[in-house]
Amino acid sequence: MKKKSRGFGVYFLLIAALLGVCVWISTMNKEDNSYEYTQLSEDLEAKKVESITIQPNKETPTGVAKVIFKNDQKKLLYATDITEVEKLARQYKEAGEIELEVTDIPSENWFLNYLFPILVGLVVLVFIFIMLNARNAGGGGGTNAKMMNFGKSRARLADGSNVTFQDVAGLREEKEDLEEIVDFLKSPEKYVQVGARIPKGVLLEGPPGTGKTLLAKAIAGEANVPFFTISGSDFVEMFVGVGASRVRDLFAEAKKNAPCIIFIDEIDAVARRRGTGMGGGHDEREQTLNQLLVEMDGFGVNEGIIVLAATNRVDILDPAILRPGRFDRKVTVGTPDVGGREEILKVHARKKPLADDVDLKQIAQTTAGFTGADLENLLNESAILAAKSGRLFITQEDIKHSFIKVGIGSEKKSKIISDHEKRITAYHESGHAILFHLLPDVGPVYTVSIIPTGMGAAGYTMPLPEKDEMFLTKSKMLQDIMVSLGGRIAEELIFGSDDITTGASNDIKVATKEARRMVTKYGMSEKLGVINYDDSDDEVFIGRDLAHPKSHSEEISGVIDLEVKAIIDDCYDKAKKMLLENQEILHSCASLLLEKERINREEFEALFTV
Ligand code: ADP
Ligand code: MG
Ligand code: ZN
Repeated sequence: MKKKSRGFGVYFLLIAALLGVCVWISTMNKEDNSYEYTQLSEDLEAKKVESITIQPNKETPTGVAKVIFKNDQKKLLYATDITEVEKLARQYKEAGEIELEVTDIPSENWFLNYLFPILVGLVVLVFIFIMLNARNAGGGGGTNAKMMNFGKSRARLADGSNVTFQDVAGLREEKEDLEEIVDFLKSPEKYVQVGARIPKGVLLEGPPGTGKTLLAKAIAGEANVPFFTISGSDFVEMFVGVGASRVRDLFAEAKKNAPCIIFIDEIDAVARRRGTGMGGGHDEREQTLNQLLVEMDGFGVNEGIIVLAATNRVDILDPAILRPGRFDRKVTVGTPDVGGREEILKVHARKKPLADDVDLKQIAQTTAGFTGADLENLLNESAILAAKSGRLFITQEDIKHSFIKVGIGSEKKSKIISDHEKRITAYHESGHAILFHLLPDVGPVYTVSIIPTGMGAAGYTMPLPEKDEMFLTKSKMLQDIMVSLGGRIAEELIFGSDDITTGASNDIKVATKEARRMVTKYGMSEKLGVINYDDSDDEVFIGRDLAHPKSHSEEISGVIDLEVKAIIDDCYDKAKKMLLENQEILHSCASLLLEKERINREEFEALFTV
């Protein structure tokens, strides 16, 4: 910080000096401009004058008369009619009393008129550049803030971050994953000995505010190695080539400091899918991304550099970045469950005095869908409320008030979930999960969650496929459809058909697509035979359909639709029957979900053994 302000002082002096020079130049011709014609004729009369130099201006007859007195004094006379002055002076010259010199009408002074303003302009421009750069280079880099360091990386060496894993609440598995990396950097030999290949890149992924940046900072605090941090947007500059050169510089710097960690926050700014630049002009970003990929391929295995990156948007990342040898380890940082929320609240309540009536557990229960950042904000707002009313501690009432402010606050509206909605979601996800479990070719279930994902989904059920299949079989596809419909069926069974929600629209879409593919692409319908009726192979070109002739008749279209419906109806009936047979588990699964919000494989499978 000190360094930075000193830098600014120097610049300030420079500018001041420059201004001084400007002022001086503009005044140096005007030593005394109060001298007048009448005065001059008096002085001539009194024989005080030694010599006169007459300089006509470009715009004659105006001009300047430089008058030198016998006592060496010098005066300038700015005349509106210099010929008048000349006439007067000539009289005295002829009388031999003074010397007179008349200069030519000056040609244009190109230096003062053209070059000088250009120079001044240049100096100002350069100054602005330096200023901007110095600002962005930040304090930590210090010596980096040289002139013209556009191509230099803007990575900052984290200065002994005081965040540790203790400050990161919840996120147990995520922390475990990352501790491994910290451990590798601390004692690489241990891993190299057994021939382990440590991932080069780790991608932290999850909705905003869930603690990705915090986790990275904690790693910086835990690992005793240099930690370079840079934000994806720092690579994106106005000038083509700057981003790429920054990447190069960053990795060069890192290699010098290995073992070390590079942290690229908000990597989506550079690593967006290539070739989707709307309206062109994204060459710069592509170059930067290419350079990043080249660099990541460039350093060897176990060279001691680990690239950590964070993003809210894995969906828009270029697939190349996720290839093995690059960011091959992905750590998903999700919205916290009840337990996680309570822990986060505890962490943030550490420095805030709470009244006895504050029940963090209860707050955790009512804040489903809140991220760490939301919870931090909640407590902060409560503290502000408490301070406003002149108290030294936060009461449960303060928190309740802030809850409305934080939760209902414009964009977070969708996150406040009523108990009823929560119940519906719990049954919906249980429906999916039970079918995953019971059907032979799908599943097993890895996680079931009713924590809103922040991306519009109210919950999710995640299977853990055990085998990697080359082919989809017809029965597997049918089972997939049944699972997709399971959520909706469970809602119907429990809440009746009046209370079914719109939440299943995506499930229905997935099921329909699958059924349609079976009929039109894989020849799995007996009525239609083994013929491809699917013309939508290149979904990339939106609007292509319009110009594209259908490869089959309207009649066939009708049959396709009927066949799709038949498949869906059949799956629906079978799935419904299975769920009806397992209604007890449906109830127990839903209530376990309501209690825990997120359950893992063991907890889920235990439901079937009672
Ligand atoms: P992200 O980078 O995922 O968008 P941040 O790491 O910037 O989110 O988190 C923002 C803030 O939210 C943090 O500074 C911290 O105060 C709070 N926070 C988020 N997650 C946690 C957590 N697991 N434990 C403690 N605080 C958290
Ligand atoms: Mg962040
Ligand atoms: Zn669903």
